[in-house]
Amino acid sequence: MSTSKLIILKIIIFTILLSLEKNTNGQQIIEGIHYETGHPVRIIVNNGIIENVIALDNAVSDRLVYIAPGFFDNQVNGFTGISSSFGEVYLTYEGIEESTAELWKEGVTTYLPTLTTNSIEVLTRNFKLLSKALNDKKLLGSIPGFHLEGPYISSEEGYRGSHPTQFIKPPDWEEFLKLYKASGDRIFQITMAPETEGALDFISNCSRKGIVVALGHHNADMRIVSAAIDRGAKIATHLGNGAANMLNRHNNPLWPQLADDRLNISIICDSFHLLPEEIRVFYKVKGAEKTIITSDVTQYATLGPGIYKTSTGEELELTTNRMLRYPAQDVLYGSVSSISKGVGYVMRVTGCTLGEAFRMASSNPARLYNLNDRGVLEPGKRADIILFTIKDYQLDIEKTWVQGKLVYEK
Ligand SMILES: [Zn+2]
Repeated sequence: MSTSKLIILKIIIFTILLSLEKNTNGQQIIEGIHYETGHPVRIIVNNGIIENVIALDNAVSDRLVYIAPGFFDNQVNGFTGISSSFGEVYLTYEGIEESTAELWKEGVTTYLPTLTTNSIEVLTRNFKLLSKALNDKKLLGSIPGFHLEGPYISSEEGYRGSHPTQFIKPPDWEEFLKLYKASGDRIFQITMAPETEGALDFISNCSRKGIVVALGHHNADMRIVSAAIDRGAKIATHLGNGAANMLNRHNNPLWPQLADDRLNISIICDSFHLLPEEIRVFYKVKGAEKTIITSDVTQYATLGPGIYKTSTGEELELTTNRMLRYPAQDVLYGSVSSISKGVGYVMRVTGCTLGEAFRMASSNPARLYNLNDRGVLEPGKRADIILFTIKDYQLDIEKTWVQGKLVYEK
C-alpha cells in the first residue's frame, strides 16, 4: 500500500471512530411503559430529539414506571414566591428561572407564563423581562411564548374574578401591539371578554396575526359568543370560573360555550375550582380532543398558609388545605397546585385513560399554539420526556428531560 493510500485509510478510520464517539455521546436511551399503549418502550434520543420509539417484548422493570411527553401548561401565573409573579411589579429574572426549574420537577416541560390584568407599564416591563427567557439556553425552550389574561375583560363583579378593577378596560389594538412587541412577538394567547366595545374587531385582528383568542372573565350571551367564534376565538379560558356565583339559569355564558363544537375549553382541575360533576359534564360535552387541563397556578404555590397582599392591594387568603381565596369577591385566586395533580384528578372523576389525560395536558396545547415539535412521543419531536409512577390517581414524577437534557431526578 502506498503512503498516500495509507494516510487516506487512516483518515477514514479516524472519521468513523470520531462519528461513533459523537453518536455515543449525543445518544441516550430512556425506557418505560408507554402512556398510551401501556406497553414497554425504548426511546432513543439523539441531540435533544427523539430518534426512535421501539416496542419492547419485556417489561423494563418490575415497577410500573410510565413514560410520556412532558406537560404543557398554558396558564402559569408564577410558582415560587412573589419574585415570580409574572403579571406583578415584583417579577425578577431569577424568579423566572427558579419557577422554570421548579416546574420541571412537576413534569412541566413547556409553559406559558401568564400575565394578568395590571397597568400597561407593569405589563410592558414584565413582557420585556420575560422575552429574555425565550432565547435563554439554560431554559431549553421551556418558555416558547406567553398568555395575556386581561386587561380587556369584563369589569362586572364576579366575572372579573380577582382582576383589579382599576386596570380593566375595553380592548385597544394599538396598545396591545405595543405589549406584543415588548413580548418579542410571542403573546400566544389573549384571554378577553367578547362583549365589550370593539372586542369583535379586536378578535379578528388577533386571528389574522395567529394569536389564539380565548374567551374568559366575560358575561357574553349566545349571540356574542357565536360571533366571537365566527371571528376566530378558539378556546374558553378556565370554563366554569371567571364567572359570578349567581347566574341566570337560561342566559349565562356557560351554555353557549359548551354548545358550540368549534370552541375548545381549558379547565382547572385542582379539586377547588370545579366540582367533579362539572368536570364530568364538560368532559362529556367537549371530549379529550377539545379539552385542555390547565393549572392557573400562582406564585403562592411554594408558600405556606396565611394572608397575602398583591401589589395592587388585593388581599388573599391561602388556607391550610391549600385553597387560594379572594375574600372580597368570594372567588378563588388561581391555584397552588401544578398540572400533574390535575391530570390525576381528571382521571379519577371522568374515568378517562392516561393517554386521554396526556392529550389534554400535553398534546392539545402544543397543537393549539402550532408547536409541532412537542406534545407527543414520536421520532423527530423534542425529547421533552417524563418518567413517573401513579398511585391512587396521584402522579409521582421521577425524572424529567427537556430537549434531551436530564433536568430533574427524584
Ligand atoms: Zn382567570
